[in-house]
Amino acid sequence: MIVTPKVWHFVCTTAHPLGCEQNIKDQIDTISVKGTHDNGPKRVLIIGASTGYGLAARIAAAFGFGAATLGVFFEKPSRKTRVASAGWYNSAAFEKLSQKAGLWSRSINGDAFSNDARNCVIDLIKHEMDGPIDLVIYSLASPVRCLPDSGMIIRSSLKPIGSPYHGKTIDTDCDELIDIDIAPATQQEINDTIRVMGGEDWKIWVEALHQANVLAKQAVNIAFSYIGGEMTWPIYWNGTIGRAKQHLEETAAELRTQFLTYGLRTHVAVMKSTITQASAAIPVMPLYLSLVSQIMKKKQLHESMIEQQYRLFHEFLYRKDQQLPATDTKSRIRLDLHELREDVQRDCKALLTRVTNQNLAEVTDYLTYKREFLQLFGFERQNLDYHADVDINTQFDCLVL
Ligand code: NAD
Repeated sequence: MIVTPKVWHFVCTTAHPLGCEQNIKDQIDTISVKGTHDNGPKRVLIIGASTGYGLAARIAAAFGFGAATLGVFFEKPSRKTRVASAGWYNSAAFEKLSQKAGLWSRSINGDAFSNDARNCVIDLIKHEMDGPIDLVIYSLASPVRCLPDSGMIIRSSLKPIGSPYHGKTIDTDCDELIDIDIAPATQQEINDTIRVMGGEDWKIWVEALHQANVLAKQAVNIAFSYIGGEMTWPIYWNGTIGRAKQHLEETAAELRTQFLTYGLRTHVAVMKSTITQASAAIPVMPLYLSLVSQIMKKKQLHESMIEQQYRLFHEFLYRKDQQLPATDTKSRIRLDLHELREDVQRDCKALLTRVTNQNLAEVTDYLTYKREFLQLFGFERQNLDYHADVDINTQFDCLVL
C-alpha cells in the first residue's frame, strides 16, 4: 500500500512503518554513539512507552545501559487496509532492533489505567524477568481514563481556569494562524482532568508493584511534567492540565513519604517542550513550539527528546559520581531550565507580537515544526520513497490485552 499523511487539525491519522522505524534507528544511534554504561537501571518498566518521552526513555535505558525494558502502551495495530498508529510501528521497530542488539524487551498493548494491564505487567515481571523493576517511568498522556473498578469514563480537558483564554495558534491542517477562544473550565472539568492526568493512577501502579514484590528496594520512580513560561501558562500551568501536574507533584511527595523506608526514589522530572502527539493537541503549543525551538536553536540550547532523556539518565538519575539528582525546592528534577531562560522567553514574546499569517514562515520556524510533526508519524524522512508500496501489517511479539 502507498501511505500518505492525512492531517486532521492537530493529528495525523496515518503513519508510515518504514519512516517510524527510521525514527527509532535515529534515536538509538544518538544513544549508542555515547557508549553503553553499566551504572544504570537493569530492569525498567515504562508506562506510555510507544511515543514521545516514554519511548525516548525506553531507548535511553535499553541502548545506554543494556537494561531489560517492559513497555506498556495503547496503540492501534493495522486492520486490512487501515494503517497502524505510529506508536505501534515504533514499538515494532524497537522490539526488532532491541532483539537484534541482544536486549531483553517485552511489550504490552492495552489500557494502562486498567487492573488487567497491571496484573499482566506483574505476571510478566514475576515469570519472565530476572528480578524486580529498578526503574519506573510513568509517561502517559491521555485524554481519557476508564476507572479500573467502576468502569466509569472520565475525560480530561485543556482549558484555562477562572477566565476565558483568547490567543493564537497554528492549525496544522491548513497551516494557518487562527484565533482561539476557550471558555474557562468548570470545577467538574478541573477535577476530571486531575483524575486523568494527575497522580492517582501513578500511585496505584507503584502500590501494586510494591505489593506484588516486583519493585526493587531503592528503585527510581519518575513521572514527567511541564511547566513552561508565561506565554503558555493560561492554557498550561494555570489551566486544567497544570492542576493535574500539580497533583502529580503532590503524589510524588506522598510516595516519597509512603516508601521512605523502602528507599524508593520518586521524582517528577520537568522536561522541555517538544513536538509529540500529545503536545501538538495543546491549543497554544504549535505556535509556541514554532517560536521557541528556533530561538533555542539559534542560541545553541536546543535538545531533542532523546537528548533530554540522555541528560536525565546521566546527569540526574545515574550519575558517575553516584550523587543524588539535583532538584529544585519542590524535589523536582529540572530539564526545562534552558527553555525558561529569561532571554529565550523574552525573544519568544517579542516574536509573538510580530507574527501574522503573511509572515508565519519568516517569523516562526513553523515549516520545521510541520516537518517534525509529520516525522512523528514516519513521514518527511529523507531517503525514503513514499511512492513505493509498503507492507502496513507489521506484526511483532506483543501482548495485546
Ligand atoms: P505522547 O503522546 O507522545 O505519548 C503518550 C504515551 O502514552 C504513548 O505511548 C501512548 O500509547 C500512551 N498512552 C496513552 N493512553 C494510554 C493508555 N490508556 N494506556 C496505555 N498507554 C497509553 O506524549 P508525550 O508528550 O511524550 O507525554 C508523555 C508525558 O511527558 C506526559 O506526562 C506529558 O505531560 C509529559 N511532558 C511532555 C512534554 C512535551 O512537550 N511533549 C513536555 C514535558 C512533559
